[in-house]
Amino acid sequence: MTTSHYIAGHWVEGQGSDCISVNDPALGQPFAELMAASVSQVDQAVAAARSALPAWKSTCASERAAFLRGFAEQLGQRREALVTVQMRNNGKPRHEAEIDLDDAIATFGYYADLAEQLPSKNRTVPLAAPGFTARTRLEPVGVVGLIVPWNFPLVTSAWKLAPALAAGCTVVLKPSEVTPLIEQAYGQIADALGLPAGVLNIVNGKAETGAALSNHNGLDKLSFTGSNSVGSQVMRSASAQCRPVTLELGGKSAIVVFDDCDVDQAVEWIVAGISWNAGQMCSATSRLLVQDGIADALLPRLQAALENLRVGNPLTEEVDMGPLTSQAQWLKVASYFATAREEGLQCLAGGHALDREGWFVSPTLYTDVPKDSRLWTEEIFGPVLCARRFATEEQAIAEANDSRFGLVATVCSADLERAERVADALEVGHVWINSVQAVFVETSWGGTKGSGIGRELGPWGLSAYQSVKHVTRCLG
Ligand code: NAD
Repeated sequence: MTTSHYIAGHWVEGQGSDCISVNDPALGQPFAELMAASVSQVDQAVAAARSALPAWKSTCASERAAFLRGFAEQLGQRREALVTVQMRNNGKPRHEAEIDLDDAIATFGYYADLAEQLPSKNRTVPLAAPGFTARTRLEPVGVVGLIVPWNFPLVTSAWKLAPALAAGCTVVLKPSEVTPLIEQAYGQIADALGLPAGVLNIVNGKAETGAALSNHNGLDKLSFTGSNSVGSQVMRSASAQCRPVTLELGGKSAIVVFDDCDVDQAVEWIVAGISWNAGQMCSATSRLLVQDGIADALLPRLQAALENLRVGNPLTEEVDMGPLTSQAQWLKVASYFATAREEGLQCLAGGHALDREGWFVSPTLYTDVPKDSRLWTEEIFGPVLCARRFATEEQAIAEANDSRFGLVATVCSADLERAERVADALEVGHVWINSVQAVFVETSWGGTKGSGIGRELGPWGLSAYQSVKHVTRCLG
């Protein structure tokens, strides 16, 4: 690819020094390459967003809503191409790639609705003091940098782009260097819809490009999704410039299974929580807490279910799980298999890479994992499940909360009062009860503790791109 950056309404060639290889993880081979944007192209993208801001934030909200509906419609029109790119570049099974696309479409539709309601949100504020009136205005934060990872690229970018544009912000998006193709669609759609030049800019590149964007003094806000180590650097840049930042970071989430569960049903929820996207989910429920009374019945069935997952190339085989998306991730997961062997962990399923081309690993289950094991405490980002047993509800809550992360959790119990009580006690941003990880655009997304700052989705996702202004008038 030559023209892979969308700046000020034009597709341009990258002038940076990094060459980005785009890989098919099922084959472990590159199928495209592109040159990264240079630092001066990042400057140009920010400058384009800055000059587009006054006109874009002054458009009436219904006009912005119409553009967002256009994004939703055009994503749908590109369905087959977008599903195929995700299968080829991410290694996602077809049904997962379809769900990601539907999620992105729903996100643009939802924020189009919220944009239409914006005028009614500006209101008069009743004051106790006589002689004054006051009113609020919800204004866009301004020019926003958006930096995203590779695991759900279409979705993560939609969760940022749609509310930012709805609020009246202009943006510079930096996709992951691992999956730089899929978000090109957002630039193509902007072109097709006649979105004013500079409202949406896309610069591709590696860490250098991300750092040039997050350090840029022309931004009013940065919204980052990715690892904790890069998140810390992004937060340092934000703090150096005293500007707001949203951080969606890692997780090490728990799934708590009580004795009263139907074993097969619980197995289905557990497997989905660790095998979806080959476990490369910030929300993977990779710590299984299983109550003593059900553990002996559940663990062998879980082992069988993991071993029966069809792992393979989503483009050529019927699969439940694809490869890991990058060689770096494959090596990382393999290093945890080695650590597990060194720690002498009991492995009930998997525990190794697959002996075939591509970056495949087997779905893995370790049991009775000590609380201080690195596999229990660290985010692995692969289909690696660690299990521990518990006796009481209090113990389950304490162990689930004993983590530096706090993204999500799942509670499985036939006793709904108990499930709700446990959900309330868990220190996380999102809890599922007796469910797979269904994410609805009306609910919120984001974590507590080391899992980040701020919320995406729902009205909170829009507020993240808005600033509240009050106008107070003396009636004097
Ligand atoms: P990463 O932090 O390595 O990269 C994320 C993005 O940051 C990429 O676009 C990358 O190019 C860019 N980047 C790298 N170095 C940078 C720097 N110095 N300055 C600015 N930008 C820089 O993360 P990843 O490996 O792409 O993604 C996996 C991580 O993302 C996991 O930890 C996962 O939990 C997290 N994640 C979180 C959520 C959430 O909603 N909480 C969602 C998806 C992924």
